[in-house]
Amino acid sequence: MAKHKTHYEDCDVLVVGGGMAGTGATFEARHWGRDMKIICVEKANIDRSGAVAQGLYAINCYMGMQWGENQPEDHVRYARNDLMGMVREDLGYDMARHVDSTVHMFDEWGLPMMKNEKTGRYLREGKWQIMIHGESYKPIVAEAAKKSADKIYNRIMITHLLMDEEKENRIGGAVGFNMRTGDFHVFRAKTVIVAAGGASHIFKPRAVGEGMGRTWYAPWSNGSAYALPIAVGAKMTQMENRIVLCRFKDGYGPVGAYFLHLKTYTQNANGENYEKKWYDQTKELVGEYIDHHPTPTCLRNHAFIQETMAGGGPIQMVTTEAFQDPHLETVGWENFLGMTVGQAVVWASQNIDPKYTNPELTTSEPYVMGSHATCSGAWVSGPEDLSPPEYFWGYNRMLTIDGLFGAGDTVGGSAHKFSSGSFTEGRLAAKAAVKYINDQKAENIKVTDKQCEDFKDAIFKPLDTYKVAQNEITGGTVSPSYISPIQGLQRLQRIMDEYVGGIATNYMTNGNMLKRGLELLAWLEEDLEKVGAEDLHQLMRAWELKHRALTSQCVTEHTMFREETRWPGYYYRGDYMKLDDDNWHCLTVSRRDPKTGKFSLEKVPVYHIVDENEKKKAS
Ligand SMILES: Cc1cc2nc3c(=O)[nH]c(=O)nc-3n(C[C@H](O)[C@H](O)[C@H](O)COP(=O)(O)OP(=O)(O)OC[C@H]3O[C@@H](n4cnc5c(N)ncnc54)[C@H](O)[C@@H]3O)c2cc1C
Repeated sequence: MAKHKTHYEDCDVLVVGGGMAGTGATFEARHWGRDMKIICVEKANIDRSGAVAQGLYAINCYMGMQWGENQPEDHVRYARNDLMGMVREDLGYDMARHVDSTVHMFDEWGLPMMKNEKTGRYLREGKWQIMIHGESYKPIVAEAAKKSADKIYNRIMITHLLMDEEKENRIGGAVGFNMRTGDFHVFRAKTVIVAAGGASHIFKPRAVGEGMGRTWYAPWSNGSAYALPIAVGAKMTQMENRIVLCRFKDGYGPVGAYFLHLKTYTQNANGENYEKKWYDQTKELVGEYIDHHPTPTCLRNHAFIQETMAGGGPIQMVTTEAFQDPHLETVGWENFLGMTVGQAVVWASQNIDPKYTNPELTTSEPYVMGSHATCSGAWVSGPEDLSPPEYFWGYNRMLTIDGLFGAGDTVGGSAHKFSSGSFTEGRLAAKAAVKYINDQKAENIKVTDKQCEDFKDAIFKPLDTYKVAQNEITGGTVSPSYISPIQGLQRLQRIMDEYVGGIATNYMTNGNMLKRGLELLAWLEEDLEKVGAEDLHQLMRAWELKHRALTSQCVTEHTMFREETRWPGYYYRGDYMKLDDDNWHCLTVSRRDPKTGKFSLEKVPVYHIVDENEKKKAS
């Protein structure tokens, strides 16, 4: 291992991932921890990393409290409705009450915000969204983090968390490797904030072969945010609540501005409003939830999927009316410039001018994330003033491991945070992490060299495996003694796709399929001990795959545990097709025992805090 030089860094706050939540955490940690040592470690380059790398056209979470537009309570009700009742309202409220201040800082830092010419307010795209010229969004928040951190490490992938050997269940830091130099990095830290984004590519994508990177969700988001905490025994929640997106076909260009600003609408191939057709059938499955306004995202997907299965496709977005207005036409095209230029390229290549042709929509493969219209992630403590006892254990956004915090996609139960809410949650986590240190909770942490050296051996093993196994290649990349990261990834994606409710089965699964899926995932886990990497880039791919595989196990365990179909349109349990509020109006929480690798699951009450408070006020 001598060829991989070891670097040690001791710090107070270690932020893993420099995306939206990570930059927010790094910025806020400096505000509260003036004299503290703050380090941020990023797998890519913080200037253009994470889901916002290319930019965004709208900030999707802004209350507008200064103008009385929305209150945090409204946002809690909105997220609760969209997630069919299953959210952590304490976390959602806490984010919503602080998110406006975050957006005002973005404005001060130079993010070009669109303004309503008549009112002078931020230009609304919808009730929660405001429009921006967001090509520079990521570099702007990165600059705030760079000015705040003692050091930003780019191109280092964190592969494992370190645990304190003095006190049980306390964090000790993290380790990883530099993908350019091949050096090994040890970060001994008093607190760690995991902000490593969500998980794409665990289910087989619609675009395969050379188009494989063309997914809705950023292809480089590999589930480290889940695998890192799962591996050390942190509790997770709602991991069954994967998300499926309805987007423009093949390019996955955003539809928000089209629906909300351009007022476009969808229709089936015969020009019919197909959503209405599926009302009775959906009511049969989910009861009164179908009458809620706005219609929960998963139920709109459900109508799309049913209509397609019934032969009503292709489903189209009616753009030909709105695009006759030159202003709306411009907005329609500019919408892609800010975040998905590829959609315009796809249309050009397919001869689609949306002024004259209604473009096709599709439903994506499922993704796992905690900040969009979905709430998978870590089970964290809420804020002291809002959270019921079962949701509070001392420090806001702390996982069930002492000193380990999370934000953004990492945190479960709190949907609809989006970019601004994720940055805000990073700020909340950092404030709590600094308090944790100031409260002397991080004293005398012991991380031995042995713990680090063991991880070093494990991290670089795929390089050694390849070195030996390449001699046994029988042809191309076929070898009896190793598998490559891409072979492992494709095997993982097929298991998830065919057994856990991906596109192959129109998002359908059941107990027997899940049981079989778990068996296959266990064998994959065994085989991943033999993953080989021919260079440092492939080493990164190997570790991304291992993180995806562990995340997938957790998703499958959760899907097996929840014996109902809570979110038709995201996935279906064929053996329990109906929503079952009597037995399943609850959150699911899992823990994987790091020693045995076995998952245990439990139901945890979902508290409707906003309505409870209102009931109290009324009485
Ligand atoms: C396609 C798409 C469109 C969206 N559109 C909008 C929109 O229009 N408006 C809006 O407000 N929000 C939008 N969002 C949501 C927003 O992008 C996310 O909510 C937000 O980026 C989540 O922040 P995060 O920090 O959790 O993850 P990210 O911003 O993705 O950051 C995660 C970071 O962790 C790094 N990382 C990952 N693994 C490791 C590791 N092992 N070691 C070190 N670093 C690691 C990644 O490189 C990345 O920089 C969109 C999201 C997607 C996917």
